Amino acid sequence: PTGPHRPDVLVVGGGIGGLSTAFALTRAGLRVRVLERAEEFGEVGAGIQLAPNCTRILDDYGLLDEARSLGVLPEAMVMRDALDARELTRLDLSDLERRYGYPYLVIHRSDLHALLLRACRAAGVELCTGRKVVGYENTGAGARIRLADGRTDEAALVVAADGLHSVARREFVGDDVVSSRYVAYRAAVPIERVRGNGVAEKDVVVYVGPRCHFVQYPLRGGEMLNQVAVFASPSADASPAGAAGAAGATGDARWGGPEELDAAFEATCDTVRRGIPLMWRDRWWQMLDRDPVDTWVHGRVALLGDAAHPPLQYMAQGAIMAIEDGWVLAHHLTRTAPDRDAALAAYQAVRVEHCRRVQTTARAWGELWHLEGGERLRRNAVMRARDTYDYGFTDWVYGPTALTPDQEPAMFTPIPLGA
Ligand code: FAD
Repeated sequence: PTGPHRPDVLVVGGGIGGLSTAFALTRAGLRVRVLERAEEFGEVGAGIQLAPNCTRILDDYGLLDEARSLGVLPEAMVMRDALDARELTRLDLSDLERRYGYPYLVIHRSDLHALLLRACRAAGVELCTGRKVVGYENTGAGARIRLADGRTDEAALVVAADGLHSVARREFVGDDVVSSRYVAYRAAVPIERVRGNGVAEKDVVVYVGPRCHFVQYPLRGGEMLNQVAVFASPSADASPAGAAGAAGATGDARWGGPEELDAAFEATCDTVRRGIPLMWRDRWWQMLDRDPVDTWVHGRVALLGDAAHPPLQYMAQGAIMAIEDGWVLAHHLTRTAPDRDAALAAYQAVRVEHCRRVQTTARAWGELWHLEGGERLRRNAVMRARDTYDYGFTDWVYGPTALTPDQEPAMFTPIPLGA
């Protein structure tokens, strides 16, 4: 053991999922130690979207006002066709806030991460960096982790929030990542650099196109614009999914390199094409997920966040699901105390099905967004027919996070493509 007091919980990974969970569990009265492999805590300097199912939890944590002051509350979320720029459908985000009671917020990832880190420090979470976990073992009364330097640490409960390439996932599940053959480029740029390009400075805009899409939204009080450019990599077919995934999600040189970026958006509308030269070209993110699994709890080790349910990012719910996981787990650990096994069972009983639905819906959204030819035109017609104030597609995900399976909102009904 590495700290002065033995903790009740070890959280492996200090990303958004790990830190928010550590905060929630500390607030529930547990002693928590976070083990992060990096030498410093941090996040990528790009944006993240937080829907009402997340801002509701931040409010419960007393962190929403600070998040709001650091981020932007956009006016609308607009979907456009990437080729002709025509509007397909929109969400009115003020009305959305009225419906769900909490805002739709966009924020710089490093601002969100730093906010969670400050909250953890203030709450008394023990935060350790330079601790790479390489193995897990259940001990009966708890679980033990092994660090790369040979040291061990243990607690009654271990939460593995170690991301897409989770060591715990490999050890307890042993499945491979699944490659979508799409790749994402990001950029956060000063708003002056894009003014005059037809950018909607107060909205989240998603341009959907054949085998590509492009996202723009404001950050930091509107001083910056976040951009995400996603496309099907023509060279991805040559690389086995497992091999690409094993190399990590940032800048695997084998496919999706910057030489493919410009060509992928050549036929898109002016606003999109003028955004492409601003993308960061030294890093890119291959779009990988995993097939859903039913079991996240292995003895006293619980998978959480991307380690449990990494999605394709098309619903913008990956980090949110991780935050929800921590909130639900803390609720059940409080409710069933001191019976930790009952809490873990309750956590798994409610979270698995919801996250499966997000993962599979995200894959379906990807297919829908990237349609070509006649299918694209049929999709556009269906989307244009949607009533702005029809919340049938968002209730199940933006509504209150369920604590028990019987609270789960209605099932998602897929859009009929007519194809
Ligand atoms: P991670 O963020 O991966 O954190 C894992 C942490 O564990 C890291 O700090 C890592 O260093 C550490 N770690 C890893 N292995 C070890 C080890 N062996 N020992 C110790 N520490 C370890 N989600 C949203 O909610 N909204 C969005 O708008 C959104 N947009 C996205 C856009 C893109 C382009 C992408 C790629 C993703 C997006 N997501 C979004 C998804 C979101 O980024 C992830 O789902 C989320 O960051 C997962 O958080 P996590 O804490 O589970 O994992």
